[in-house]
Amino acid sequence: MEINLNFKESLATGYKSESQKARRLTEGWVLDNLYCPRCGNLKLQHSDNNAAVSDFYCLCCNNIFELKSKSGSIGNRFVNGSYNTMIQRITSNTNPDFLFMSYYRNELMLENLILIPKHFFIPNIIEKRKPLSENARRSGWTGCNIFIGGVPEQGRIYIIRNKNIIPKKTVMELVSRSNALVTEDIENRGWLLDVLHYMNLIDSNTFTLKQIYEFESYLALKHPENHHIKAKIRQQLQLLRDKGYLEFLGGGKYHKII
Ligand SMILES: [Zn+2]
Repeated sequence: MEINLNFKESLATGYKSESQKARRLTEGWVLDNLYCPRCGNLKLQHSDNNAAVSDFYCLCCNNIFELKSKSGSIGNRFVNGSYNTMIQRITSNTNPDFLFMSYYRNELMLENLILIPKHFFIPNIIEKRKPLSENARRSGWTGCNIFIGGVPEQGRIYIIRNKNIIPKKTVMELVSRSNALVTEDIENRGWLLDVLHYMNLIDSNTFTLKQIYEFESYLALKHPENHHIKAKIRQQLQLLRDKGYLEFLGGGKYHKII
């Protein structure tokens, strides 16, 4: 199946609101073009049972994908629904994989599509928005943003990047590799992904323990309950080694395996 970046304009005919039109176009695009990035199945199915979210599933591997889309540049944030619901889903491991899409409204064309597998979601990337005011119908309800910029690059898997279609084989290899980072316990997951994130920020492929310790104060802010940050960092480096992301060179030196 050839991936076509254009939206099918006819799908939006008869819809009045911009959000309804956008939803018809983006969901239609997924059904017409997208394969299952987990198992390679040629098509995804739409779950019609929940009108509130754009859900898709794969008949082959049963995986669920939730689509978030916006016009304009992909940016670092996507608006999401209820903050409490999202935190609950993440901490109970009932989150689906997410697809983040950006498109050009005027050209009716897709620009970026990123898959973030479920095991990259941690409470730190869910940002609370301001609660709705007292006068609002759902007063006190609090929405959230998903801060995709806070996900380590190993978990931001591009399917389409700046209108370039990434080969399906590459996408599936990256998804498969990222499975090594699956951590069920949410606290442990946070530590592993945070240390991976800071390791990514170091500008060279080889680095020292001292360099990663420089992020100690950031980690202390994210994990205020822990008072042994350095020990925790070393433990995560060992885990990253065991998972194939890092090589220990000895003498407090490490090599990233890209
Ligand atoms: Zn599948």
